[in-house]
Amino acid sequence: MQNWELVQRYSRQQILPGIGEEGQRKLGESHVLILGCGALGCLTASALIRAGVGRLRLVDRGVVALHNLQRQILYDEADARMGLAKAIAAESSLKEVNHQVRVEGIVTNFSSGNALSLVEGVDLALDGLDNYESRFLLNDVAWKTGIPWIYGAAVGTVGLTATFLPHQTPCFRCLHPELPPPDTILDCTVAGVINAVPWMVAAIQAAEAVKLLVGDPSLNKGLLLVDPWNHNYEKIVLATRASCPTCRGHYSFLDGSL
Ligand SMILES: [Zn+2]
Repeated sequence: MQNWELVQRYSRQQILPGIGEEGQRKLGESHVLILGCGALGCLTASALIRAGVGRLRLVDRGVVALHNLQRQILYDEADARMGLAKAIAAESSLKEVNHQVRVEGIVTNFSSGNALSLVEGVDLALDGLDNYESRFLLNDVAWKTGIPWIYGAAVGTVGLTATFLPHQTPCFRCLHPELPPPDTILDCTVAGVINAVPWMVAAIQAAEAVKLLVGDPSLNKGLLLVDPWNHNYEKIVLATRASCPTCRGHYSFLDGSL
């Protein structure tokens, strides 16, 4: 039997047939890794903490700057003035929202040296990363360990997301066989970003995460593209590539054998 405060706190989502008391219990027992505490990571972390996910591990190496406040919802002007580490500022902010969950902020760079230890014990990893190389690494780690991960990216007016289930769906490297050349990559520092785009992507990531954690089968099977500025919304079918190294068990970004 759940206590009164828990019933009150989660009553609006627990009414949903897809969640219920059993789903809420599963969320409370879940442990999620969020890589990157930028716009995507801030919003997914906030959504999952509010939904009652029992444990969050947040990883980011950066510090809060004034230009982050346009879209990174866990930080304020004082954080930017002090140049606080994002993982620590996010942890502190999230604990104010829900004292019943465990939040662990880790200030580090996600790398092949710490990737396996960072996914230790988690049920799911969410992508709030800002570069391709880290996503290839996350993809390798996910396929090696069997941990699902949810891709998210946002730049300019366009956002992308996909849900990757190891050895069940195509993987990120099926979509991108190799690292794109550096001069072809657009990021927010060059192309800018409107805040609605990462928030839309993160909202989809959070919904996918909740469904995965409660065991709902209606997951996103494909690559979703959202562009609210130009009213373009697409669902792109993904296919497993027979020559994909990750799907064939070669984890070159993780073991450094590139
Ligand atoms: Zn693959």
